[in-house]
Amino acid sequence: MARPGNKIVQAKLVLLGDMGTGKTSLVLRFVKGQFVDHQEPTIGAAFFTQILSLNEATVKFDIWDTAGQERYHSLAPMYYRGAAAAIVVYDISSRDTFMRAKKWVQEVQRQGNPNVVMALVANKCDLDPRREVQIEDGEQYAQENGMFFMETSAKTAENVNELFHEIANKLAKAS
Ligand code: GDP
Ligand code: MG
Repeated sequence: MARPGNKIVQAKLVLLGDMGTGKTSLVLRFVKGQFVDHQEPTIGAAFFTQILSLNEATVKFDIWDTAGQERYHSLAPMYYRGAAAAIVVYDISSRDTFMRAKKWVQEVQRQGNPNVVMALVANKCDLDPRREVQIEDGEQYAQENGMFFMETSAKTAENVNELFHEIANKLAKAS
C-alpha cells in the first residue's frame, strides 16, 4: 500500500541471460517465495507484478520473464525496450553463461533505454564447489559497465530480496 505523500514508481523490469541460469527461478522466488528443482524451461513469457514499499517510494514492478526464446541467443528488442531495469543473469558454475551474459549486457546497452538500471547477477551461489566464475570477475565486469553486482541463489533465497530491493531503491532515486 502506498503511504500518503509517498511517490509511486511503475517500472518495467526484464530478465536476460542464457537458458538455465535461473531467471524464472529468481522471479518465482521473489514473487511467490518458492523454488522448483526442475523448472520447465518454456514455462513463462510470464508477466508478474510485484510491489515493494520503500521509505521514500512505492515501486510497482512489471516483471517480464522469457518463454525460452533466449535458447536462440536472441530476444526481440521489444522485450527490453522501455525497460527501466534489466537483470542479466549467469550461473556461477558455467563460464559459458558468464561469457554470454556479457553479450546480453552489450545488447541492452546498444538497444535499450539509456538510463536503464542494470544488475549483473551471479546466480546459483549455492553451487560454490562447482564454481567456474570467480566473484571478482563478475564484480569487475559489472563495475566497468555501470551495473551493480550481486551473487544470488534462487534455491536458498540468498540475496534475492536484496537484489530486487536494490533495484527498487535505484529506481526510486532516479525518478
Ligand atoms: P531460466 O531458463 O534462466 O529461466 O532458468 P530456470 O529458472 O528455469 O532454472 C534452470 C534450472 O536451474 C532449474 O532446474 C532450476 O531448478 C535450477 N536453478 C535455478 N536457480 C538455481 C539456484 O540458485 N541454485 C541451484 N542449485 N539451481 C538453480
Ligand atoms: Mg525461464
